[in-house]
Amino acid sequence: MIKKIGILTSGGDAPGMNACIRAITRTAIYNNMEVLGFIRGYEGLIDNKFLELKRESVSGIIQKGGTILKTARSERFRTDEGMQFAVNHLKENNIEALVVIGGDGSFRGAIELSKHANIPIVGCAGTIDNDLVGTDFTIGYDTAINTAIEAIDKIRDTAESHDRIFVVEVMGRDAGLIAIRSAIASGAEAVLVPEIKQDTDDLIKKIKNWRSTKSSKIIVVAEGDESGGAYKVADIVKQHNPEFDVRVSVLGHIQRGGNPSCMERVNASIVGFNAVKALLNGKSGEMIGIVNKQITFTPFEKAVKHHQKLNKDLEELIEVLSS
Ligand code: ATP
Repeated sequence: MIKKIGILTSGGDAPGMNACIRAITRTAIYNNMEVLGFIRGYEGLIDNKFLELKRESVSGIIQKGGTILKTARSERFRTDEGMQFAVNHLKENNIEALVVIGGDGSFRGAIELSKHANIPIVGCAGTIDNDLVGTDFTIGYDTAINTAIEAIDKIRDTAESHDRIFVVEVMGRDAGLIAIRSAIASGAEAVLVPEIKQDTDDLIKKIKNWRSTKSSKIIVVAEGDESGGAYKVADIVKQHNPEFDVRVSVLGHIQRGGNPSCMERVNASIVGFNAVKALLNGKSGEMIGIVNKQITFTPFEKAVKHHQKLNKDLEELIEVLSS
């Protein structure tokens, strides 16, 4: 029997992390465990900073964005000294199992930690990028794409009124999933993502073929696209089409914030609940995911090895539907 567990949120924050913390805490307490929530991800393990989480500690947080445990990217955790502090504090606090909520980097950290700390560690995929293999949706993704399309809808209103082209940059350093989905859902005319090589000539050709009766045009660019981002794309468009009024909008961090969507809250609750059940069933070193509505367990090594693939047919869909 596990008597005491730790939870931490690590890497970039994502809406729905609180719903997951709540589910883990309440499921653990229901199963007679104590729960410590470490503050600022692996930094909290290194500095021994934590909150004792009770049922009431997680009241009123399911609807809130961000993470009550705060999060961080910890360079110290990559050092031998940092790792040793973390391991010592887990022991000192009698932590018998750990749940890590974060993205692929956080799971790489969990792999390293499990080489030094002799306790089971499981993970819940929390990242707005949705780039992990082994789950259909990561915590934060659904809310982020909904925030993005809400913003793009507003940009469309002003673009339409002024007959402008807008280049909108959305998050996604290595993955174009936010860009592709938000482009489809907002009726964008083009999308540029890191997974699909597209030279500028293609884009220029595309623009030349746009219907003249369309008064506004929206190009969605993932921040990690090789074009170099929205400002560079806007410059190219302007260069080749001086007749167009081209504007840029970088959505930035608003995509990380806000109240999680219904789907986010439900999925985060399911994943958190199953993380504790997985520990009770003796699992370790695995990420809990949802694939085709079924709970799945993916070894950390596999989850971090590849990025979830983009369905490239969706690019054609955008082209056809925006014609
Ligand atoms: P997001 O997808 O939102 O960026 P992430 O979990 O991928 O989230 P990272 O910054 O890549 O975010 O990783 C979070 C933290 O995990 C790092 O700051 C570091 O502390 C830890 N980490 C990552 N890789 C390693 C590693 N190889 N060894 C030890 N710790 C690591």
